[in-house]
Amino acid sequence: MENEVTVRLASFLIVFILVAIWELMAPRRQPTVSRARRWFANLGIVFLNSGLVRVAMPILPVGLAMLAQKGGWGLLNILALQFPVNVIAGIVMLDLVVYLQHVMFHAVPILWRLHMMHHADLDYDLTTGLRFHPIEIIISMGIKLAAVAAIGPSVFTVILFEILLNALATFNHGNIYIPYAIDRVLRLFLVTPDMHRVHHSVTIRETNCNFGFNMPWWDRLFGTYRAQPAAGHEGMAIGLAQFRDTDRLGLLWMLALPFTGKPGNYSINRWGKEPSRRLDIESVRYALAQTGGNKAKASRLLGVSRATLYRFLADFPNVS
Ligand SMILES: [Zn+2]
Repeated sequence: MENEVTVRLASFLIVFILVAIWELMAPRRQPTVSRARRWFANLGIVFLNSGLVRVAMPILPVGLAMLAQKGGWGLLNILALQFPVNVIAGIVMLDLVVYLQHVMFHAVPILWRLHMMHHADLDYDLTTGLRFHPIEIIISMGIKLAAVAAIGPSVFTVILFEILLNALATFNHGNIYIPYAIDRVLRLFLVTPDMHRVHHSVTIRETNCNFGFNMPWWDRLFGTYRAQPAAGHEGMAIGLAQFRDTDRLGLLWMLALPFTGKPGNYSINRWGKEPSRRLDIESVRYALAQTGGNKAKASRLLGVSRATLYRFLADFPNVS
C-alpha cells in the first residue's frame, strides 16, 4: 500500500512535468487569462481534494479490490480469467463506468451544478484536468468503489487504471499542439487533447460531446463523438457562457459555484426539453454565416424547425 501511493504520486509528477514542458514548447492556444491565478486555484483544489479523500473515505479502491479478491466477489473474481485478459477486461469495464458517470454528470441537473466547476475554467490546460469540485470527487469515489466491488478487478488492475486515468487526463487536457496527421491516428486508440477540448467548448452542442477520458471508443459507440469544434481550436471559446468574468477565478468562488452559479442550459435534460433553447449563439451564428443569412437553410443545417430558429432569434436579436 505504501508503495502504491509512491508509484502513483511519482507517475503523476512525471506526467505533469512532461506535459507542462510540452505546453511551454508547443502550445495549442494562447492563454486568455493569467496562468498564475488559474494554476493557484486549480492546484489548490487538487491539494484540498486529496486531503479530503483520505479523511472522508473509509476505504479506497485498492483496499476494496484486495477485500473483493479475498472474498471472491465481483465478476472478474468469479470468472478467474488469465492474467492479461483479466487486466484488459477490468480496465475496459472501469473505463466504461467513468464514461457513463461523466455523461450522468452532464444529464442530471444537480450533478451538472457540481461538474460545472470543471467546465467553468476559461482556459484549457493540464491543470483543468485536475479541477473538480470536492463533492464531485467524493461522489466519483463512491461510484468507483461500487464499480470495483461489482467488477472485481485485481489490485494490479486498479492501480494501473488509476495511473492511466491520471496520466491521460493530464495529457488530454494539455494545451499542446499535436499535428493533425498524428492526432488522427492517435485518437483511434486514446482520447487526444484536440478530441477532449471539444467537450470544453462554450457551445452547448459541443460541450455535450466527447465524454471519454481514456478510451475514445465509447463516444463513437454511443453517438456522442464530435471530431472538431465548429470554430476551430484557436477560434473556439473555452468555458461556459454564463461564467465569462475573469475577476471571478478564485478558489472560494469555485467552491461556491454549484450553490450560487446559474446552471445555464448545459445539462443534457434541459437542453432537450426546451425547443427554443436547443440552439446556442455560436452554432446559430455559424449556420447563418454558412448559409449567407438564409434562415430557412440555416434552420435545416441546425436540424430545427424554422419556428424554433425564429423564436431563438427573437430572444437573441444581435445574433443575426
Ligand atoms: Zn464534462
